[in-house]
Amino acid sequence: MDVARCIADGNTYTAHNFEQLGDSRIEGFRRLLVCVQCGAPAFFRKESRSGQAACFGARPHIPGCEFAAAEGRRRGNPGNDQEEQINLGERIEIDFGYGAQEIVHPTPDNPIDPNGRGGRFVPGSGRRSPVMHRRLSTLLRNLMVSEQFRNSDQIIGLPEGQFRVRDFFVRFNEANRDHVGEYRGYWGMLSDARYGQENSLWLNSGGRENLSVVADTAIVDGLHERFDVDDLEEFAGSYILVFGTLRVSGNGKGYVACNDLRHITVSLSD
Ligand SMILES: [Zn+2]
Repeated sequence: MDVARCIADGNTYTAHNFEQLGDSRIEGFRRLLVCVQCGAPAFFRKESRSGQAACFGARPHIPGCEFAAAEGRRRGNPGNDQEEQINLGERIEIDFGYGAQEIVHPTPDNPIDPNGRGGRFVPGSGRRSPVMHRRLSTLLRNLMVSEQFRNSDQIIGLPEGQFRVRDFFVRFNEANRDHVGEYRGYWGMLSDARYGQENSLWLNSGGRENLSVVADTAIVDGLHERFDVDDLEEFAGSYILVFGTLRVSGNGKGYVACNDLRHITVSLSD
């Protein structure tokens, strides 16, 4: 889309005007953009190396928004996993090998409680439900498109224990102090990406919460390769899911560090 509103200063910008603001201001403002019509969180992507003009987008717009039709289709995930479905009611186990390697089997009748606290943890019951193995990319797609899935009581089995889907997956803009120190599947839309110390890669989500996923130097090359990214701007407007623990840095910035490619997936926009 050609225009977006910035909630930092209340102004409506064309992509061209926004681009003129200069790098430091763009850096802050691009995380606080919304669609002028439906108010959905929006992103800004700079002109690409391949010459695609700077643009705004939202993923998704609120149903009925006229700006939705103007936007391109989503780029598919790598790997031929389009056929994977999630059946509500079945227990999900994660295929951390994204289809290529071994499948992790938690012991359903003897789960490990990761933090020894009640509430979210689901102890093993005598009854076993059917099990399906799903990749991170499939889980992310379901989180993006299905409110029913996001809110479901479906059980997800991990080496760290068993969780309900609605407790385990935490959208960036819903993460709060209670999640600090908690192992979860954190997910949401990225506003931008930039290199940090020692070439670690900061994948930043927008909004007031402004959480980041920090990809360790060791996996940065693999991340670019696996998702076919050669320009950091391609991360703007993409969705990400990372399995990890929410931490808060000295200056109060929330982040999830990731040093294992098997624990992260990205759905790029196009
Ligand atoms: Zn919209």
